[in-house]
Amino acid sequence: MPHNFIVQNLIEVKDKEKRAVCGEHPDKRLKLYCFKCTKIICVKCIDVPHQEHKCATVETISKKIAEQIQSDIEPFSSRISQFRESLSKVEVPNKKLLQTIEEMKHGLRQRGDEIKNLVDDHVAKLTKELNEVKERSVKEAEARVESIKLALAALESFQTHSMEIASKCSPSDITRSFNELHTRAEELLKSHVITDDYCPPVVQFEPTEKLIERLHNIVEGWIV
Ligand SMILES: [Zn+2]
Ligand SMILES: [Zn+2]
Repeated sequence: MPHNFIVQNLIEVKDKEKRAVCGEHPDKRLKLYCFKCTKIICVKCIDVPHQEHKCATVETISKKIAEQIQSDIEPFSSRISQFRESLSKVEVPNKKLLQTIEEMKHGLRQRGDEIKNLVDDHVAKLTKELNEVKERSVKEAEARVESIKLALAALESFQTHSMEIASKCSPSDITRSFNELHTRAEELLKSHVITDDYCPPVVQFEPTEKLIERLHNIVEGWIV
């Protein structure tokens, strides 16, 4: 606190005191300071109860008091500086830490997004591949079923036809049909042979080295 400010205040206080009168003696102004009671009194108060107390006029003592106040607050400047320094020792690193945390959070989100994108892309790629396998398998199975059904129809129809001739026709008709039926039977058995070579495509997951390497590159050095 600047010295001038204190002196100015004291002058203002003294002005007020000039106007102030004693509570005990309303006809007297407060002009004296009692050191023992640390209060301002009037000239009549000196008799009782301040008779034995050391007193001085306000004008005399005020300058000394102002000097004392100045001396009392002398160490405050350096103490305040110390506290300001101490404040910045907490505030500056804390601000830096908060900034670092924000940067790390940003980096974390970025790496997270990279991993998500990588996984999403990989899932999409595998799904596409599986769909292609599925389409091929369905087509192949349908073709196989169609060909088996055609063979069944031909075999069953000839079987029924032959049984009808054998059971319902006259002996002469049976005899006449024999050559034709026999040749046809041999043809059908020759052309409709079970192959049983259908084998559905094998699908399984194997971790690809490339993906693992890319994931590893993203995650590496990520642990705080
Ligand atoms: Zn008085
Ligand atoms: Zn006194």
